[in-house]
Amino acid sequence: SKSRFLSKMSHELRTPLNAITGLTQLLHDGAGEAEQREYFDDLRDASQLLLSLIGQVLDLSKIESGQMVLERQPFDLHDIIQKVMHPLRARAQLRGLACSWTVDAPRGVWLQGDALRLQQVALNLVGNALKFTQQGEVEVRVVLSGERLRLAVRDTGPGIAADDLAQLFQPFVQVGATQSQEAGSGLGLALSREIAALMGGTISAQSEPGVGSLFVLDVPAEIAPSPVVSAAPVVEIGRAHV
Ligand code: ADP
Repeated sequence: SKSRFLSKMSHELRTPLNAITGLTQLLHDGAGEAEQREYFDDLRDASQLLLSLIGQVLDLSKIESGQMVLERQPFDLHDIIQKVMHPLRARAQLRGLACSWTVDAPRGVWLQGDALRLQQVALNLVGNALKFTQQGEVEVRVVLSGERLRLAVRDTGPGIAADDLAQLFQPFVQVGATQSQEAGSGLGLALSREIAALMGGTISAQSEPGVGSLFVLDVPAEIAPSPVVSAAPVVEIGRAHV
């Protein structure tokens, strides 16, 4: 399985690298101003894809060799969800999608854990929902309840066939109609599930083809002492409509 992984990885790396080589040649040969701009945009996209692919492969191999250690630092739950959702809201607007989120937890509540890894998983799940949904909406609901944190991402995208659902969390798996839609590595969900497991939690997926999908991250939550905690629970609502 290691050599299968390596050969798939080489194939995935070659795609953006080929694009970068080809685009560089086109720019070298000379192009009009509008074309140049387009080539530079494509260069940026291919480089970003390459960078994220390498980052994901490094993370996966770190996990496999038992070297990924999660941070245990206090963080403000509302704050980190905002940080994930704000840039994504802009992306949703560009795509003509509605994007809303709620955080159902006391305002100012701090948790103990690895905020960056939590953001990485949230970014992957919400990013996928936005990437694959052509019209309609993406709805994110974060609930802190007892000692669990649940982040549910629902979309009105193409959905995933039951047979494909079981494969989704394997590295490099891209399924159904989404396969060729937008560049991706097929590593995000595999990595997200591993991170969720390291946190002592799970990621599950439900879907109905033609209707949409629901991805849920469910992890233990440890409340950390915070500078200011108000007693009353606050439901925060963010919304972006076009
Ligand atoms: P990537 O998005 O880079 O391809 P992921 O591991 O995050 O990799 O996702 C793997 C595959 O799962 C995607 O290529 C797509 O086929 C499918 N998928 C993930 N999220 C969704 C979603 N919200 N709706 C439909 N298909 C999805």
